[in-house]
Parts: sequence; structure tokens; C-alpha cells
Amino acid sequence: MLFVKMFVFYINMIKMYELLLFRGVKVQENVKNYDYLIIGAGVIGLTISLELRKRHPNSTIAILEKETNVAFHASGRNSGVLHAGFYYTSDSLKAKFTAIGNKKMKEFCKEHNLKLKECGKVVIAKNKSEINTIHELYKRGLKNGVDVKIISKKELKEINKDIKTVDIALYSPSTASIDPKEVMYKLREVAENKKIEIFLNTSYNSHKDNTVYTNNREFKFKHLVNCAGLYADKIAHNFNIAHNYTLIPFKGIYLKYNGDPNLVNIHVYPVPNLKNPFLGVHFTKTVDNELKIGPTSMAAFWRENYHGVKNFNISEMVEILSQTSKLFVLNSFGFRDLAFEEFKKYNPAFMIEEAESLLDNVENDFISKPAGIRAQLLNKTTKELIMDFKVEKAKNSTHVLNAISPAFTSSFPFAEHVVNIIENKVENKVENKVENKVKNKEVL
Ligand SMILES: Cc1cc2nc3c(=O)[nH]c(=O)nc-3n(C[C@H](O)[C@H](O)[C@H](O)COP(=O)(O)OP(=O)(O)OC[C@H]3O[C@@H](n4cnc5c(N)ncnc54)[C@H](O)[C@@H]3O)c2cc1C
Repeated sequence: MLFVKMFVFYINMIKMYELLLFRGVKVQENVKNYDYLIIGAGVIGLTISLELRKRHPNSTIAILEKETNVAFHASGRNSGVLHAGFYYTSDSLKAKFTAIGNKKMKEFCKEHNLKLKECGKVVIAKNKSEINTIHELYKRGLKNGVDVKIISKKELKEINKDIKTVDIALYSPSTASIDPKEVMYKLREVAENKKIEIFLNTSYNSHKDNTVYTNNREFKFKHLVNCAGLYADKIAHNFNIAHNYTLIPFKGIYLKYNGDPNLVNIHVYPVPNLKNPFLGVHFTKTVDNELKIGPTSMAAFWRENYHGVKNFNISEMVEILSQTSKLFVLNSFGFRDLAFEEFKKYNPAFMIEEAESLLDNVENDFISKPAGIRAQLLNKTTKELIMDFKVEKAKNSTHVLNAISPAFTSSFPFAEHVVNIIENKVENKVENKVENKVKNKEVL
């Protein structure tokens, strides 16, 4: 009997010890402290982490990423074009950062031996009414310090006889191609080598004061930077800011050209509709010498609505349908026309027609490629899309709300700008100014 009692006593002691030990471990290891805690390991989160490391060599920096690797979303699913910077009016952040971002991203690729195709680009006019826009883009390019040239139809045919245009075209030699996934994997490696901790499979769920709760553990931060792409608005709302904004996901479908990839060796873009932020279905020359057409700009039904019913989310669908039906009825920024136009592109035959409006001798041989989704910010009051990058700061946190295209190209200087905001080195005046102009419909 005494033996049994002693045995039970020892078992209980071990259990209590284990419990205490487990709790101790939980408290010590399940909460991590960081000077800077970044949500989202997209191109924006990664470049911001590198800029923070450059300015604060001894700080502790971590990135939380909900996926199993980087490049699952926009940063790994885009056209891979390094834009030149001629689309944007000179008072915008896009104008300020694109040309310099193009140069810095090229330097990064060269430094790390990543694929880079300096193929250039032409913007062509499909009809006479588009010629004025070509002149407008040329003026914007000159103002933004971008190397652009207006070329005649004859000069265009010397570049490639199959490219179509009416009268003139815009030529941009500095537009290039990179492999976005390759760049992302290298950025991850560089960040980790600089002692930036990346926690994969770790999703921001909520926060209280300076503690973030995830599916795994808790993180304490001195400053949090929200770079969560398609979910950046939700996290900002969780920090009690930006309630007037919501993100609308716009899906970009691509088709790969299966005919001769050397049909054209330069990017071929149509003249864009300056009322919305999309550039129109274009031919992209990839670093692997493929040709692809796309992306479309159709409102997606839920935020990660890449393929079929994967990642289906009913509450997101209800919210998006409610927002987009209001835009449809009001025809804000020509949304109704855009929706009709884009809906047709679900039919590949229509996409191929678009391709044929840019180039002669296109064979009817395309296969679909993975789609990408743009996280486009909408002002819920004015019902207008925010055309420029947008960052908002709250107490101990900074939120990147509208990292739309060309944020991949602009990422290095844009990251410097965000860190300047974190450190109160710039006012957020520029964005406000741009937003006012958008209200007056002056900005692309
Ligand atoms: C179809 C398409 C074509 C484009 N073409 C070009 C182009 O040619 N050139 C160009 O310069 N730009 C282009 N862009 C734009 C460019 O890709 C984006 O602007 C840029 O990638 C945005 O980067 P990001 O880091 O903000 O977002 P993302 O790459 O989406 O990264 C956000 C990250 O946050 C993570 N995350 C989200 N929620 C949470 C959470 N709760 N917890 C933890 N992690 C979370 C996500 O998993 C994701 O990895 C294109 C975009 C699209 C969609």
C-alpha cells in the first residue's frame, strides 16, 4: 500500500514538474520580442526589412508570413516587368520611385546574377484617338526624367515588322524583365543572411497593445509594419485606422503564346485608359524568352480567388459584391464599362483578339498561365480607386495600404520612403495631395 501511495506521489510530482516546465517554456519561447515586426514577406515586406537593417544594424527584425514560402501572392504572380516610370503624373509617388526603382532592381539582379532581360517596350495606338495619349505619356516621361522617345510607324517597323500602330508609338528602352519568383527567393536569402527572422506558416490573427497573436505564438513589437498585400486593409482596421478604405481584388489572367517566341523581342503595350490604374492586355517578353499576353483586370469574387473555388471565402464574396455592385450602378471611374469589357476576356478567344490587335502574324496557339490578383484600394466614401501608393501611420505601427503596380519595380525606393515615414522623416503630405488630385480625376 505504502509503495502504491509513494508511486502515485512521485507520478503527481513528475506531472506537476512537467506542467511547470511546460508553462515556463511556453512563457519563455512562445513570446518573442522584436524592435520591428513586419507582417507579410512580399516584395514590400522584404525590401522594408532590408532598409530597416541598413539603418539599424543592431535591431531585432522579424517578418511573419502566413504561407509556406515567399512569392505565393502578387510578388510571385505578376508580369515581371521593370517599368520605366512614364505613366504617372510627376506629383505622384509612383513617378518619384519607378525610374529609380527600375535602376535599383536591375543593380540587385546584376549583383546576384539573377535573370534580367533589358528588352525595352513600345506603347502603340490602335486608333487615331489614342495618339494624344501617346503624346501625354511622352510628356509625363520627360517630366519624370525617364528615357522615352516618340517613334514613327517606319521606325517601329524597323524594331519589328509585326508590331501594329496608327501613325506613331512610344519607345521606352529602360523597360525590362525579371523573374519575380527568382528575385523574391534571393531577397529572402539576403534578408535571412542579415539576421532578419522570417516566420513562415505564421499568420497575424489579432493584436492587443504591443502583442501580436498568431496561429503559432505571440510576438511583442516596438513598431509593427503591415505589408500584408490583399489583407493590409483588414489589419489596418484591426489597428483602428483606414476604416474609410477597403481592398478590391482585381484578377489578372495570362495566356502563354505557344507559337514562335521570337515573334517579338520587346514588350508591346496598348495605350492605357487613363481613368483606371490598369495598363491593358499586353505582350510581355519574359526573361526565359517566352511570350505571354495579359493580365486582365476583372474584379475577383474573393481575395485569393486564383483558380476555381480554392480559398473560397463567403464573407469576402458578400463584401466584394456589395462594393462592386455600388461601383457598377454609379459607374464610378467607368467601372461598368471596365466590367463589361473585362468579362469578355474570360473567353480566351477574346484575349487572342486583343493579342491580334497588337501584332500581325499571331498564331491561334495559347495556353493558360497562373493568374495574379492585384490588391487595389478603394475609398468607400468617394467610390474611387486610389491610384497612387498609400501608407498610413498609427501609434507604433505603419500600414502599407496600396502597394499596387509598379510596386515591384519601385520596391527599393518605396521601402526607403516607408522607413522615412516610420522615422517621421517625411510627412504623408504627398499622398494626400495625390489623393485630392485623384478626386479631380487629374491623375492616371
Ligand atoms: C497580375 C499582376 C501583374 C503585375 N505586374 C507588375 C509588373 O509587371 N511590374 C511591377 O512592378 N509590378 C507589377 N505588379 C504589382 C506587384 O506585383 C505588386 O505591387 C507587389 O508585388 C506588391 O507586393 P506586396 O509585398 O505588397 O504584396 P504581396 O506580394 O501580396 O505580399 C503580401 C504578403 O503578405 C502575406 N500575408 C497576408 N496576410 C497575412 C497575415 N494575416 N499574416 C501573415 N502574412 C500575411 C501574404 O501571404 C503575402 O505573402 C503586378 C501585380 C499583379 C497582381
